[in-house]
Amino acid sequence: MLEASVGGCDERGPIARIMSSVTVLPIRIYPDAVLRTRADEVTRFDADVARLVDDMMDTMRAHHGAGLAAPQVGVSLRVFVYECGGVSGHVVNPVWRAVDDELQTGPEGCLSIPDIRAECTRHMNVVVEGFDVTGAPITVDGTEIVARCIQHETDHLDGVLFLERLEPAVRKEAMRAIRSAEWFTDPAKVGS
Ligand SMILES: [Zn+2]
Repeated sequence: MLEASVGGCDERGPIARIMSSVTVLPIRIYPDAVLRTRADEVTRFDADVARLVDDMMDTMRAHHGAGLAAPQVGVSLRVFVYECGGVSGHVVNPVWRAVDDELQTGPEGCLSIPDIRAECTRHMNVVVEGFDVTGAPITVDGTEIVARCIQHETDHLDGVLFLERLEPAVRKEAMRAIRSAEWFTDPAKVGS
Protein backbone atom coordinates (compact mmCIF):
# COMPACT_ATOMS: atom_id res chain seq x y z
CA MET A 1 0.00 0.00 0.00
CA LEU A 2 1.25 3.45 -0.84
CA GLU A 3 2.11 5.87 1.90
CA ALA A 4 -0.27 8.80 2.22
CA SER A 5 1.48 12.12 1.77
CA VAL A 6 0.43 14.52 4.48
CA GLY A 7 1.93 17.96 4.10
CA GLY A 8 5.63 18.73 4.51
CA CYS A 9 8.37 18.36 1.94
CA ASP A 10 8.26 15.60 -0.59
CA GLU A 11 11.27 15.22 -2.86
CA ARG A 12 9.09 13.47 -5.45
CA GLY A 13 7.39 16.79 -6.17
CA PRO A 14 3.75 17.80 -6.36
CA ILE A 15 2.71 15.50 -9.21
CA ALA A 16 4.17 12.38 -7.60
CA ARG A 17 2.60 13.42 -4.34
CA ILE A 18 -0.86 13.67 -5.89
CA MET A 19 -0.47 10.35 -7.65
CA SER A 20 0.87 8.54 -4.60
CA SER A 21 -2.02 9.79 -2.48
CA VAL A 22 -4.48 7.69 -4.49
CA THR A 23 -4.75 4.14 -3.24
CA VAL A 24 -6.96 1.69 -5.07
CA LEU A 25 -7.54 -1.41 -2.98
CA PRO A 26 -8.43 -4.80 -4.48
CA ILE A 27 -12.17 -5.53 -4.38
CA ARG A 28 -13.30 -8.77 -2.77
CA ILE A 29 -15.48 -10.72 -5.17
CA TYR A 30 -18.45 -12.99 -4.47
CA PRO A 31 -18.48 -15.54 -2.86
CA ASP A 32 -15.59 -14.31 -0.64
CA ALA A 33 -16.36 -15.18 3.00
CA VAL A 34 -15.71 -11.62 4.23
CA LEU A 35 -18.78 -10.54 2.24
CA ARG A 36 -20.94 -12.93 4.28
CA THR A 37 -19.59 -11.88 7.66
CA ARG A 38 -21.07 -9.31 10.02
CA ALA A 39 -18.54 -6.48 10.34
CA ASP A 40 -17.41 -5.13 13.70
CA GLU A 41 -18.22 -1.70 15.11
CA VAL A 42 -15.40 0.84 14.93
CA THR A 43 -14.33 1.64 18.48
CA ARG A 44 -11.19 3.68 17.81
CA PHE A 45 -11.43 6.73 15.59
CA ASP A 46 -7.76 6.86 14.76
CA ALA A 47 -5.53 7.47 11.74
CA ASP A 48 -6.12 3.93 10.51
CA VAL A 49 -9.86 4.56 10.11
CA ALA A 50 -9.17 7.89 8.39
CA ARG A 51 -6.77 6.13 6.00
CA LEU A 52 -9.31 3.39 5.37
CA VAL A 53 -12.00 5.93 4.44
CA ASP A 54 -9.59 7.77 2.11
CA ASP A 55 -8.54 4.56 0.40
CA MET A 56 -12.14 3.35 0.10
CA MET A 57 -13.15 6.65 -1.50
CA ASP A 58 -10.30 6.33 -4.04
CA THR A 59 -11.23 2.71 -4.71
CA MET A 60 -14.93 3.48 -5.18
CA ARG A 61 -14.12 6.30 -7.62
CA ALA A 62 -11.63 4.15 -9.57
CA HIS A 63 -14.36 1.56 -10.08
CA HIS A 64 -17.11 4.15 -10.73
CA GLY A 65 -19.14 2.79 -7.83
CA ALA A 66 -22.00 4.60 -6.11
CA GLY A 67 -20.87 3.25 -2.77
CA LEU A 68 -18.40 0.89 -1.14
CA ALA A 69 -18.43 -0.93 2.19
CA ALA A 70 -15.26 -1.88 4.10
CA PRO A 71 -15.80 -5.67 3.81
CA GLN A 72 -15.59 -5.22 0.03
CA VAL A 73 -11.92 -4.32 0.49
CA GLY A 74 -11.41 -7.11 3.00
CA VAL A 75 -11.80 -5.01 6.15
CA SER A 76 -14.51 -6.28 8.46
CA LEU A 77 -15.41 -2.93 10.02
CA ARG A 78 -18.69 -1.00 9.94
CA VAL A 79 -17.70 1.75 7.49
CA PHE A 80 -19.05 2.74 4.10
CA VAL A 81 -18.40 5.51 1.59
CA TYR A 82 -20.78 6.83 -1.05
CA GLU A 83 -20.82 9.15 -4.05
CA CYS A 84 -24.11 9.31 -5.88
CA GLY A 85 -27.08 11.60 -6.40
CA GLY A 86 -24.77 14.60 -6.24
CA VAL A 87 -23.56 13.90 -2.72
CA SER A 88 -20.59 12.04 -1.28
CA GLY A 89 -19.24 11.12 2.12
CA HIS A 90 -18.74 8.30 4.56
CA VAL A 91 -20.52 6.87 7.58
CA VAL A 92 -18.94 4.89 10.42
CA ASN A 93 -21.16 2.54 12.48
CA PRO A 94 -24.26 3.43 10.41
CA VAL A 95 -27.80 2.75 11.57
CA TRP A 96 -30.55 3.61 9.08
CA ARG A 97 -34.31 3.75 9.24
CA ALA A 98 -37.07 4.34 6.71
CA VAL A 99 -38.81 7.69 7.13
CA ASP A 100 -42.05 6.50 5.46
CA ASP A 101 -43.54 3.47 3.70
CA GLU A 102 -42.65 4.48 0.16
CA LEU A 103 -40.70 1.89 -1.83
CA GLN A 104 -38.66 2.03 -5.03
CA THR A 105 -37.89 -0.76 -7.48
CA GLY A 106 -34.99 -0.36 -9.87
CA PRO A 107 -31.76 -1.83 -11.18
CA GLU A 108 -29.08 -2.48 -8.58
CA GLY A 109 -25.55 -3.81 -8.88
CA CYS A 110 -22.52 -4.43 -6.69
CA LEU A 111 -18.79 -3.99 -7.27
CA SER A 112 -18.30 -7.39 -5.58
CA ILE A 113 -20.64 -9.06 -8.09
CA PRO A 114 -19.34 -7.66 -11.40
CA ASP A 115 -21.59 -7.07 -14.38
CA ILE A 116 -24.74 -8.34 -12.66
CA ARG A 117 -27.67 -5.95 -12.35
CA ALA A 118 -31.14 -6.85 -11.16
CA GLU A 119 -34.38 -5.15 -10.17
CA CYS A 120 -34.33 -4.66 -6.42
CA THR A 121 -36.95 -3.11 -4.15
CA ARG A 122 -35.76 -0.73 -1.44
CA HIS A 123 -37.15 2.03 0.73
CA MET A 124 -37.35 5.34 -1.11
CA ASN A 125 -36.61 7.65 1.82
CA VAL A 126 -34.24 6.83 4.66
CA VAL A 127 -32.12 8.56 7.24
CA VAL A 128 -28.82 7.13 8.43
CA GLU A 129 -27.09 8.06 11.65
CA GLY A 130 -23.49 7.29 12.50
CA PHE A 131 -20.13 8.96 12.92
CA ASP A 132 -17.48 10.57 10.79
CA VAL A 133 -13.81 9.54 11.00
CA THR A 134 -13.22 11.91 13.89
CA GLY A 135 -15.97 10.26 15.93
CA ALA A 136 -18.41 13.17 15.52
CA PRO A 137 -22.06 12.12 15.12
CA ILE A 138 -23.50 12.62 11.63
CA THR A 139 -26.91 12.21 10.05
CA VAL A 140 -27.51 11.79 6.31
CA ASP A 141 -30.93 11.97 4.67
CA GLY A 142 -31.18 9.87 1.54
CA THR A 143 -33.78 9.55 -1.20
CA GLU A 144 -33.82 7.53 -4.43
CA ILE A 145 -30.25 6.47 -5.37
CA VAL A 146 -28.78 7.74 -2.10
CA ALA A 147 -31.38 5.82 -0.09
CA ARG A 148 -30.71 2.73 -2.17
CA CYS A 149 -26.98 3.11 -1.59
CA ILE A 150 -27.37 3.53 2.19
CA GLN A 151 -29.43 0.34 2.40
CA HIS A 152 -27.13 -1.63 0.09
CA GLU A 153 -23.93 -0.60 1.87
CA THR A 154 -25.31 -1.12 5.38
CA ASP A 155 -26.45 -4.57 4.27
CA HIS A 156 -22.81 -5.31 3.39
CA LEU A 157 -21.87 -4.57 7.01
CA ASP A 158 -24.32 -7.26 8.09
CA GLY A 159 -22.92 -9.77 5.60
CA VAL A 160 -25.98 -9.39 3.38
CA LEU A 161 -25.69 -9.09 -0.41
CA PHE A 162 -28.30 -7.50 -2.65
CA LEU A 163 -28.97 -10.94 -4.13
CA GLU A 164 -30.82 -11.73 -0.91
CA ARG A 165 -33.12 -8.72 -1.46
CA LEU A 166 -34.36 -9.86 -4.86
CA GLU A 167 -37.69 -11.43 -5.69
CA PRO A 168 -37.23 -15.21 -6.00
CA ALA A 169 -37.59 -15.31 -9.80
CA VAL A 170 -35.23 -12.34 -10.24
CA ARG A 171 -32.75 -13.88 -7.85
CA LYS A 172 -32.80 -17.15 -9.74
CA GLU A 173 -31.99 -15.31 -12.95
CA ALA A 174 -29.19 -13.33 -11.27
CA MET A 175 -27.68 -16.52 -9.83
CA ARG A 176 -27.77 -18.11 -13.26
CA ALA A 177 -25.93 -15.10 -14.70
CA ILE A 178 -23.35 -15.28 -11.90
CA ARG A 179 -22.70 -18.96 -12.46
CA SER A 180 -21.93 -18.31 -16.12
CA ALA A 181 -19.83 -15.17 -15.50
CA GLU A 182 -16.14 -15.54 -16.27
CA TRP A 183 -15.11 -13.90 -12.99
CA PHE A 184 -17.03 -16.65 -11.18
CA THR A 185 -16.07 -19.67 -13.25
CA ASP A 186 -12.45 -18.64 -13.80
CA PRO A 187 -11.38 -15.97 -11.29
CA ALA A 188 -7.66 -16.44 -12.02
CA LYS A 189 -8.21 -15.53 -15.64
CA VAL A 190 -10.04 -12.35 -14.70
CA GLY A 191 -7.27 -11.42 -12.31
CA SER A 192 -9.41 -9.98 -9.57
ZN1 LIG B 1 -22.32 -4.01 -2.98
